[in-house]
Amino acid sequence: MSARTLFDKVWDLHTVGILPSGQTQLFIGLHLIHEVTSPQAFAMLRERGLKVLYPDRTVATVDHIVPTDNQVRPFVDVLAEEMMQYLEKSCKEHGIRFYNIGSGSQGIVHVIAPELGLTQPGMTIACGDSHTSTHGAFGAIAFGIGTSQVRDVLASQTLALSKLKVRKIEVNGKLPPGVYAKDVILHIIRTLGVKGGVGYAYEFAGTTFEQMSMEERMTVCNMAIEGGARCGYVNPDQVTFEYLKGRDFAPKGEDWDKAVEWWTSIRSDEDAVYDDVVTFEAAEIAPTVTWGITPGQGIAINEVVPIPDTLPDSEKAIAQEAYSYMHLNPGAPIQGTKVDVCFIGSCTNGRISDLREAAKFAKGKRVAEGVKAFVVPGSERVKQEAEAEGLDKIFQEAGFEWREPGCSMCLAMNPDKLQGSQLSASSSNRNFKGRQGSATGRTLLMSPAMVVAAAVKGEVFDVRELL
Ligand code: SF4
Repeated sequence: MSARTLFDKVWDLHTVGILPSGQTQLFIGLHLIHEVTSPQAFAMLRERGLKVLYPDRTVATVDHIVPTDNQVRPFVDVLAEEMMQYLEKSCKEHGIRFYNIGSGSQGIVHVIAPELGLTQPGMTIACGDSHTSTHGAFGAIAFGIGTSQVRDVLASQTLALSKLKVRKIEVNGKLPPGVYAKDVILHIIRTLGVKGGVGYAYEFAGTTFEQMSMEERMTVCNMAIEGGARCGYVNPDQVTFEYLKGRDFAPKGEDWDKAVEWWTSIRSDEDAVYDDVVTFEAAEIAPTVTWGITPGQGIAINEVVPIPDTLPDSEKAIAQEAYSYMHLNPGAPIQGTKVDVCFIGSCTNGRISDLREAAKFAKGKRVAEGVKAFVVPGSERVKQEAEAEGLDKIFQEAGFEWREPGCSMCLAMNPDKLQGSQLSASSSNRNFKGRQGSATGRTLLMSPAMVVAAAVKGEVFDVRELL
């Protein structure tokens, strides 16, 4: 057989058949569910008298609506409590494994599945959340899906999907100090655009990704969707296998050896042909900050907010919209922009390595007067690990609040919300209008280290100056 990409191999292995529409019916190896996109899907199943076809391939947790301060039940928010109860009931009824609050393994769905070893190379994964692309870091093909597709996967363990083209995004070289995986993906999206990946799967390749830890690869794949790609992945390698070894659901004994052999075989072939190839140098990437209302509206920390006339015609209208919403001045430096709220967390940057790196910069410093800064671990396991290492103390002594795990102010479907037109320095993945809970709230995306720099200075600040 001719040389193929990982995407093609995994796609072909999971193809059940071709539908009359021309779409592929794709078997889904792992279905992750949470409280927001599953209630309607379960209700549709009930209406039709259907059962969950593979409860053992379905795993649930709660993340979006959970409060991160007071988690005592019933929740103060009646709607959130109803959603919790509905998920608890549905999981019980259908025999689905559920990582509830207090289980020791609850957390953001894209944080817990990798840490439990559920996410593995060569899998097809689906979840009713856009950032399911995160799991591609392991060499899985992972899709964010809508409510009706959640129903389809619950009932049939398959999805109707159109095959994607594959773009190889190669980044080579060592990242400069103070530059992180978040900067890499913000730089890629800034360059290729938020719609640049439409119709594509992104394969992240090159020495920069090879040198990254699994958690850094997850940060990159998490935001592939923000660049318009339907999914993103990194070929599995020794780093992947070392991360997985010994995790709860990782294969054991002889099965482990067989799995590693198979995982290695599904890597893209050396001479695989891609629909497109784009190359970057790590050395050209600086700490990157968004200034607008899409993740593609980003600039290096030492650049100025772009002047409309200098932008391509296709970007002018959205730039105008961004200026009127963000209240930033074209031509002004982004560095020095005053911040009100600093948020470290989310499925992009709420993992233990993110907190360790952020804590290095927070240690011995103080959050600036008038700034609200808080850290939300991505999962109960991340929280436990961070506390065992004393990171919670470092953050608290610096004036950060230390919270319980959840999505928190990434999407603000819980009490963590911006107020009025507050400006937030955020380690999350979306800076859309109103994303952080206030219709006029403003979000600047950046790495966790840059969020700490903003918190202690009270303004957007180049973390490299704190090194
Ligand atoms: S942290 Fe944000 S992007 Fe991630 S699952 Fe939660 S709401 Fe979605």
